[in-house]
Amino acid sequence: MRTLVVDHPLVTHKLTALRDVASDTATFRSLTAELVTLLAYEATREMRVQPVSVTTPVGVARGVKLARPVPLIVPVLRAGIGMLDGMTRLLPMADVGFVGLRRDEESLIASTYADRLPADLADRDTFVLDPMLATGGTLATAISMLADRGAASVTAICLLAAPEGMRHVEEVFAGGEGEPWVRVVTAAVDERLNERGYIVPGLGDAGDRLFGKI
Ligand code: URA
Repeated sequence: MRTLVVDHPLVTHKLTALRDVASDTATFRSLTAELVTLLAYEATREMRVQPVSVTTPVGVARGVKLARPVPLIVPVLRAGIGMLDGMTRLLPMADVGFVGLRRDEESLIASTYADRLPADLADRDTFVLDPMLATGGTLATAISMLADRGAASVTAICLLAAPEGMRHVEEVFAGGEGEPWVRVVTAAVDERLNERGYIVPGLGDAGDRLFGKI
């Protein structure tokens, strides 16, 4: 597994505002979308392209277009939905699948309650959206669901990560035979998890801050 911590003043500026307990839901939502677009710019750097030529008003220019099949974006319900707008802004042609994973608050183990993914992901670049890489259980499950369908690559975009979660995903996807190419792109790696599995200092419960407590 490869990791990219996007070290850019705009990313850090937006993440700092996002962490702030004083940021209300509207601010949190718009900051999330902006931050995801910035992370997506880096996360898509190695997407597959094919050469094309276009006719300009004064000649022929050689360039590229994204290879087919189109990429698949997979927000992890519920909080990942808050990242979808920021991602489709950059990849409006992408398909979107959905994965619902619930984390048991005591055992911190993820179980699947929704699975809306294409059956065959051969040759597809896929992007998982999950704001908080905490224990890594949810993300590892989501990546496995894509790997089982033959995804060529899986890039997870997380607003924040904990070292424990990074280690867990690294252990599960250590580069074995038949595994997809896996990468995590995040704005920061924080100190640790607390006893309730929250990232410290983190930003609290991303789902609640995006959509309210239910
Ligand atoms: N999920 C969250 O929303 N926040 C955390 O800190 C950890 C998991």
